[in-house]
Amino acid sequence: MTLQQTIAEHLKYTGQKGLDISAALIDCDGVLYDSMKYHTQAWVKLMKKNGIKCTRDEFYEMEGMTGSEIIKMKFKTGAGKNITDDEAHALYGVKTRYFRELGEAPVMPGAVRVLEALKDADVDRILVTGSQQDTLLDRIEKDFPNLFGEVKVTGHDVRKGKPNPEPFLKGMAKAEKKPNQCIVIENAPLGVQAAHAAGCFTIGVTTGPIPEKDLYKAGADLVYKNMDELAAALPSLLVALSLVKA
Ligand code: CA
Repeated sequence: MTLQQTIAEHLKYTGQKGLDISAALIDCDGVLYDSMKYHTQAWVKLMKKNGIKCTRDEFYEMEGMTGSEIIKMKFKTGAGKNITDDEAHALYGVKTRYFRELGEAPVMPGAVRVLEALKDADVDRILVTGSQQDTLLDRIEKDFPNLFGEVKVTGHDVRKGKPNPEPFLKGMAKAEKKPNQCIVIENAPLGVQAAHAAGCFTIGVTTGPIPEKDLYKAGADLVYKNMDELAAALPSLLVALSLVKA
């Protein structure tokens, strides 16, 4: 499919007349940080300690859901236990400790280049993550100085995790942007699904074990192999998207 066809498909799906991109809603884990391998390892440890069978791949599939949602679902399906909000909160605290014990997740290669390309094109950068991992969130300003504005959405702001579009709808409301003004950068199928449902032009990056076809199936408009490839494509992509004005 050509880029023009891709844009046409997106406009048909959303009912938008055109695109006028001025903001990028950017996911954190697996996009800005190469942190998913640590998250999945911490999840497996938490489940094993609680006698719940699981594989690491499951947690790549569930990426984007809130910690509480993941805990409630796994304890229900894996042990037949109904977990209260307080219990989920406590268990998430344990998972967070395991995650921290694994050390600092590295910055994703190419992430700075992507943010700089957006900044050069006058596209606002807005963090949209379901993460409540404050250790990671606190690193954003240090690792990406002057590349993000004040507006951000974290796990502290949202009640419903991805694939619910709430995180992206909240990001757009906070930034006073409409869906046809936003691109989303996401690595997880549920995140892509949420962005697509929110009506944003959705860019997937395959930074983990999830194959490209799964991101397209979830509703991605375009998929890049990694953040470096996206950074290289962005200047011309942003021009092409802006040629289709509302
Ligand atoms: Ca992610």
